[in-house]
Amino acid sequence: MRKHNFYAGPSTLPLSVLEELQRTMVEYHGMGLSLVETSHRSSEYDDVHASALGGMRALLDVPDTHEILFLGGGATMQFGMVPMNLLPAGGHADIVHSGAWAEKTLDDLKKIGSANILFDGSEGGFTTLPDPADVQPSAGSSYLHITSNETIGGLQWKAFPQTGDVPLVADMSSDILSRRIDVSQFGLIYAGAQKNLGPAGVTVVIIRKDLLDRSPDTLPAYLDYRTHAKKNSLYNTPPVFSIYALSLVMNWITSEGGLDAIAKRNITKSAMVYRTIESNPEFFRCPVDQRYRSDMNVVFRLPTEDLEKQFVAEAAAKEMVGLKGHRSVGGIRASLYNALPVESVETLVEFMREFAQKNG
Ligand code: PMP
Repeated sequence: MRKHNFYAGPSTLPLSVLEELQRTMVEYHGMGLSLVETSHRSSEYDDVHASALGGMRALLDVPDTHEILFLGGGATMQFGMVPMNLLPAGGHADIVHSGAWAEKTLDDLKKIGSANILFDGSEGGFTTLPDPADVQPSAGSSYLHITSNETIGGLQWKAFPQTGDVPLVADMSSDILSRRIDVSQFGLIYAGAQKNLGPAGVTVVIIRKDLLDRSPDTLPAYLDYRTHAKKNSLYNTPPVFSIYALSLVMNWITSEGGLDAIAKRNITKSAMVYRTIESNPEFFRCPVDQRYRSDMNVVFRLPTEDLEKQFVAEAAAKEMVGLKGHRSVGGIRASLYNALPVESVETLVEFMREFAQKNG
């Protein structure tokens, strides 16, 4: 039996995708070998690569002005690659410091150039975001960086700042493809795969083509976005298994009704948990500003840490895994990515109600 999987990443994948991976693992569509044993220059892999890129372009409605790249290194490598490519010598970038992931971005940005912090959420314990209308790039800024969803803090931007001529850059690792966005509003979007896209291994970068001109010639080949753009993300061996799985996830999203249907379901799922928290205010508490509560990662606290431990243990005994909050903040975190079935959320909220009744 498959468990109810609330892990923050790697996280749950659609069962039909896992089954298709299993079916094709040893022999890929009559080829007599597995796709992972096949040259990445083969026509079979070419089709998979094109299907993954095409699927993502269609679902996110990525305009021709933007290139989609499949890279390695995780979102973490983008913390460095973004400034290496977009920040000229002596330049600065603006950043919204919204939590643990923004902090990592900031640390790397400061190694490459200088950072201008537009908003610092640390004083409030990273429980809120600025109003997007108040987020304005500073004069001479090379780009403005946000983290669209803080996976640890459970904070999510519901609308994005309008940054005019200054490119908006977003780490969308934990909410890409969870809702419709206007890609043309962004200069660059990046995301590791292991939440809504597939297994870890591939990192997606969506970059406005004119920004490719900024990359300095001094960059090593792999770190230069132009290398990958010129070679259709086949400059070197791509993470073929992860891209294959991503292509199947794109098909799954389409079969579920596309991003509008997925977004609607995501809101339904998160509302079920937030409603349960709100209706038991003596027992559950969500520290996040109501306006910015994440639909992907719902964080909440119980009256004591001992009760939180007991909650996680009893949930595990009922086949619900991955509910322990990140080690840096504690508490409970329920990650409700695209592939998590509504039934798993029903099981969770029922358990929450019972647990509160018994222990409140
Ligand atoms: N940004 C965010 C918002 C994340 O949630 C994560 C991973 N949890 C990362 C960056 C780092 O991603 P990776 O492990 O793929 O480098």
